[in-house]
Amino acid sequence: MPAPTMEQVVNLCKRRGFVFPGSEIYGGLGASLDYGPLGVELKRNVKDAWWRAVVTRRDDVVGLDAAIIMHPRVWEASGHIAGFTDPLVDCKACKQRFRADHVQGTVCPECGGELTAARQFNLMFKTYVGPVEDTAHVAHLRPETAQGTFVNFRNVLETSRLKLPFGIAQVGRSFRNEITPGNFLFRTREFEQMELEYFVRPGEDDHWFEHWRAERMRWYLDLGLGRERLRERPHGPDELAHYAKGCVDIEYQFPFGWSELEGIANRTDFDLRRHSEHSGKDLTYFDEERRERFLPYVIEPAAGADRSLLAFLVDAYTEEEVDGEARTVLRLHPQLAPYKAAVFPLLRKDGQPERARKIYDDLRRHFSADYDQAGSIGRRYRRQDEVGTPFGITVDHDTMRDGTVTLRERDSMTQVRVPEDRLIEELRGRIGGPNS
Ligand code: ATP
Repeated sequence: MPAPTMEQVVNLCKRRGFVFPGSEIYGGLGASLDYGPLGVELKRNVKDAWWRAVVTRRDDVVGLDAAIIMHPRVWEASGHIAGFTDPLVDCKACKQRFRADHVQGTVCPECGGELTAARQFNLMFKTYVGPVEDTAHVAHLRPETAQGTFVNFRNVLETSRLKLPFGIAQVGRSFRNEITPGNFLFRTREFEQMELEYFVRPGEDDHWFEHWRAERMRWYLDLGLGRERLRERPHGPDELAHYAKGCVDIEYQFPFGWSELEGIANRTDFDLRRHSEHSGKDLTYFDEERRERFLPYVIEPAAGADRSLLAFLVDAYTEEEVDGEARTVLRLHPQLAPYKAAVFPLLRKDGQPERARKIYDDLRRHFSADYDQAGSIGRRYRRQDEVGTPFGITVDHDTMRDGTVTLRERDSMTQVRVPEDRLIEELRGRIGGPNS
């Protein structure tokens, strides 16, 4: 199957209400995108799948939802004020700006003009807290969720009776004033992260790093990403953040090339150490059994909800020919699909719409579903194929006679008859429950 182009995916997103250009009626705002009715369901499903795998199904991880605007000293302690920068170069001719590490040599990739020397540009968005706009009231929008977790380490430890090793997970918005956003959802200035800080005893960090590396790779594979389009890329010593002992990126082969989906880093005790130095608060852990006090090490798998969603979309997008007609299908994993099923009356008469509506209402108590009675049945199937609905349920004259419906599967297009009263059970078996 040839990989789709970004244009095909972007067009589908716009046409079917997954993703719209942000502020479109005002001409749009660069790299600002809005999720539409189907996109918001898909994104929720991505985040839920992450939460289930990382929090719900484990007994060693709890959740947190920290504030986006934090005390200004957090960003001094974390090193973001001094070091959360990208090298910026300007083209002297066309005035465009680029990330120095994204261009080759010293000439502008757009016009061939000469580039300036690189200078460091801080990626944090600044704002003011309260009515006075002076330096004493400057605050930043968080560029990652992780610091909210570190500053709550004590709170969680004291209220949850957790023992090492344990993790604190967060899903939430982060903001970065990216120099060159782009590639649709891949790099935007506001995005959602899914981050886990997993605290371990020093000495056991290598073991847990390997554990999370394998777990996270498995998550993408279980949700359907093609094995051949996923790879791990360990950071070289020159790329490694100064505090990190090791880091591996999980990369996906997007239409624009291999790019990072997630970074898994061994952050050592850097963050807890810095926050305890800057806040003056003791952030050590006391091991009751060994009677030892120490700063735990942290393994951090940091993923992006939007980047994962884009990878799932690109990977699922297929165009094929069926009986001489083009068909676009999103072969999304059923757990990710915005609608799990769509219900259709074959005819708009003979009581079929009423019967189909009843089935639709029953289904919606268990799954997100859609109802469609407009146009030929073939066209209705195609409309659902295009948005990834894994199952179609058709009510026809036999339904009125014997109480069975047609259950059509999106990918194989095979159809079986199922008794109406076994439908929920049948779908549950095929889709899997929320925790399967
Ligand atoms: P990059 O090198 O692509 O700028 P990064 O290494 O700075 O990314 P991290 O700081 O490790 O990214 O952030 C963790 C994850 O958050 C990334 O793997 C990605 O999925 C997501 N992420 C980071 N920046 C963005 C962005 N501008 N837009 C969308 N997602 C992002």
